Amino acid sequence: MLLLVNRLAPFATLLLLTNCSRGPLPSADPDLAVEIAHIRAIDNHAHPVRVTGAGEQPDRDFDALPVDSMEPQSMLVNWRPDAPGLLDAWHTMYGFAGSDLRGDHLKDAQSRKDRIQKEKGDAYPAWVLDQMGVAVMLANRVTMGSSIQPPRFRWVPYADALIFPLDNSKLAAENSDRKTFFGLEDIVRQRNLDGVGLKTAPPTLAEYLSKVVTATLERQHAGGALAEKYEAAYLRSLDFDKVDRATADRIYAQFAGKGAPGAAEYKPLQDFLFHYIATECGRLGMAVHIHTMAGAGGYFHVAGANPLLLESVLNDPELRKTNFVMLHGGWPFTREIGALLSKPNAYLDFSAQGFVTSGATMAGWMREWLEAVPEKVMFATDAYPFMPEMGWEELGWMDATKGRLALSIALTGMMRDGEISRARASELARMVLRENARALYKLPDVP
Ligand SMILES: [Zn+2]
Repeated sequence: MLLLVNRLAPFATLLLLTNCSRGPLPSADPDLAVEIAHIRAIDNHAHPVRVTGAGEQPDRDFDALPVDSMEPQSMLVNWRPDAPGLLDAWHTMYGFAGSDLRGDHLKDAQSRKDRIQKEKGDAYPAWVLDQMGVAVMLANRVTMGSSIQPPRFRWVPYADALIFPLDNSKLAAENSDRKTFFGLEDIVRQRNLDGVGLKTAPPTLAEYLSKVVTATLERQHAGGALAEKYEAAYLRSLDFDKVDRATADRIYAQFAGKGAPGAAEYKPLQDFLFHYIATECGRLGMAVHIHTMAGAGGYFHVAGANPLLLESVLNDPELRKTNFVMLHGGWPFTREIGALLSKPNAYLDFSAQGFVTSGATMAGWMREWLEAVPEKVMFATDAYPFMPEMGWEELGWMDATKGRLALSIALTGMMRDGEISRARASELARMVLRENARALYKLPDVP
């Protein structure tokens, strides 16, 4: 096994080390695991952080709704400073040698990271991708920046603020997390208006659609956006009904600049706007990304993030020219999301699954998806800056490693049960790690 470990790229050393150190026979075929460790991936969803110089404000555009200002929740094991695999990330990426991340050890680790960051300058985020074995990362950010640029980073901005054009104070009153989130959405909403040269939202829906919604989507598309992302599950449930134009016109006219609608009277307008934006994304050739997973925070409405709630959207003949990517593999609804892959315009990625499970656990449902429609399953990390011990770099490294482990175990199981050949396992690995995303976003050949 040591020989095998030496043959691995650094980012995947953990993949075999974890198997070795726990004693039982590795459940991943070693040759396949090595091959998978060397495939340079397209990361379908992540939040890379911009390099900022001395005196500059820290980057906050890595998320429209940063999750670091919420009420405390019971922390998942994989979000804690002693999360499995976190030390391996620091050891491998920065040459840190400590046995934990407490006190002076964290200072030592951080100083090694700072040194590399300084050395690399604007090239630092791309260097991080190299450590993760990622060729191209889809950067889900409000704006990009000089250190987060194509060809290594491709933009995915946020669409949520566009579906909440009215006074959101009644929605925000539900709990403290919603209050924080709607406050943050108001900032994005204002930035959208600034972007199209308006101070306030127009008085009619017709003008709002053309001057704000379409204008914003076209501006973002022209800025290189490959997709629009919804974090809507943090703000409401994913049951977007089909609503006629007259109803939407009426709600908009009733409340624009004139008081706050309650949740029930506001919802049809949001639903209408979701459909409108999805149609526009199809016209512009952008995909629609949707958070489908239990989310951060003690008030998150898990049932409202069930991907099955999107079924009427996926079944809408008018939206068949729009591709929808359900992010985060739907957990805990991992079987439900798999069943939706038969819709011609439905895709999924397994970003953030490493936040809640091990690679071995993830391998179980990943195998189900690969046995169903493997052309629509995509690798992703959701690299995200959580805390000093766990930046987007370390989390990205851990999730990339776990995702590769899960893929190795799932494909090994299929080979051992006689479902696929060794050659097909290689092909499926390349599809999941890069070719499926390359085909979906029509990306040029990725080195
Ligand atoms: Zn994310």
